[in-house]
Amino acid sequence: MTDAYDFSDRIERVAPSATLAISNLAAEKEAEGADIVDLSVGEPDFDTPENIVEAGKDALDAGHTGYTSSNGIPQLKEAIAEKLRGTGIDADADEVIVTPGGKQALYETFQTLIDEGDEVVLLDPAWVSYEAMTKLAGGDLSRVDLSPHGFQLEPALDELAETVSDDTELLVVNSPSNPTGAVFSETALEGVRDLAVEHDIAVISDEIYERIVYDAEHVSLASLDGMADRTITVNGFSKAYSMTGWRLGYIHAKGDFVGEAGKLHSHSVSCAVNFVQHAGVEALENTDEAVAEMREAFADRRDLLVDLFDEHGIDVDVGDGAFYMMLPVDEDDQAWCEAAIEEASVACVPGSAFNAPGYARISYAASAERLREAVDRLVANDLL
Ligand code: PMP
Ligand code: GLU
Repeated sequence: MTDAYDFSDRIERVAPSATLAISNLAAEKEAEGADIVDLSVGEPDFDTPENIVEAGKDALDAGHTGYTSSNGIPQLKEAIAEKLRGTGIDADADEVIVTPGGKQALYETFQTLIDEGDEVVLLDPAWVSYEAMTKLAGGDLSRVDLSPHGFQLEPALDELAETVSDDTELLVVNSPSNPTGAVFSETALEGVRDLAVEHDIAVISDEIYERIVYDAEHVSLASLDGMADRTITVNGFSKAYSMTGWRLGYIHAKGDFVGEAGKLHSHSVSCAVNFVQHAGVEALENTDEAVAEMREAFADRRDLLVDLFDEHGIDVDVGDGAFYMMLPVDEDDQAWCEAAIEEASVACVPGSAFNAPGYARISYAASAERLREAVDRLVANDLL
């Protein structure tokens, strides 16, 4: 025990990521020989598409191993701007920062905008790291609960209107949503736009699950009239291209944002990994077929899980995107998840981690066989 460290208030305000904590626990148990069905971490179970891997290897062979310019290589920034223009966002390459993962893009955004005491509004259930990033920046949280509305935003717009005010600094929108899979309707996003314009609020649009949408249409918030100058669009390669370990993401925003956030970027990470950025260009330009195949596989798994739960009389508010669903469980979701892993060897994340007690988040990025096995084990242990 040492008392040499006087930890910052900032770091003491937050807990480790609950999603990563559960998947670490599952990995530890597996290392000890247990057979865990791990439905905890949000990570596609596919290999990175071959053309992307080859592009990464080619970039290494070509010697792309040094620093790049801090905000990213020009080819990737241009490919990202082109991609954003494809979803109706008025984007230029010099409005982009390429980051080591979407998480870093979000972290830089919170740090760039939030001062001590600034109000940040989250839509619950909300992904674990938004709360932690708000607290690390010193912000105060206000929350709107979408759970009573089948996790949809449109029916909760009145509550959102009551929550935001001229004092709100930042609103975080994540569609498709982690942890619910909900895809917000264009009407809902227009409602967000109206409130953001009325109260002069900046909005993070975290679109990392944008390519994993089934029976709905993804709308980029920054493409709506009035939103171009107040939206920070965050995205990443982890989910769409099954590139979680490559660590690649980006920020797009207008005006001075990139200049200001770029200061933090240059003083912290310097740049994203050089050869990974080259692989990112290939991902954006030549991977549509593989992305579509993965999306279809996710859709089949979602439908399978819904059927399996239905057989046991459990109704889930299933979303049209991402690869998550919120399973209603006991009020004490922590205890339920503990029993699930300890007794049934099935790992899920307690809804409380997303400010949604009474649910367990299931990541269905697993094979049909493992999903069936998970449900069988939960039933056998009286957890369903
Ligand atoms: N946003 C959301 C909603 C996520 O679920 C994740 C997953 N970790 C991220 C951002 C960040 O992903 P990454 O850092 O792997 O790009
Ligand atoms: N976003 C994924 C999840 O929610 C990966 C883990 C994390 O970054 O939190 O499970």
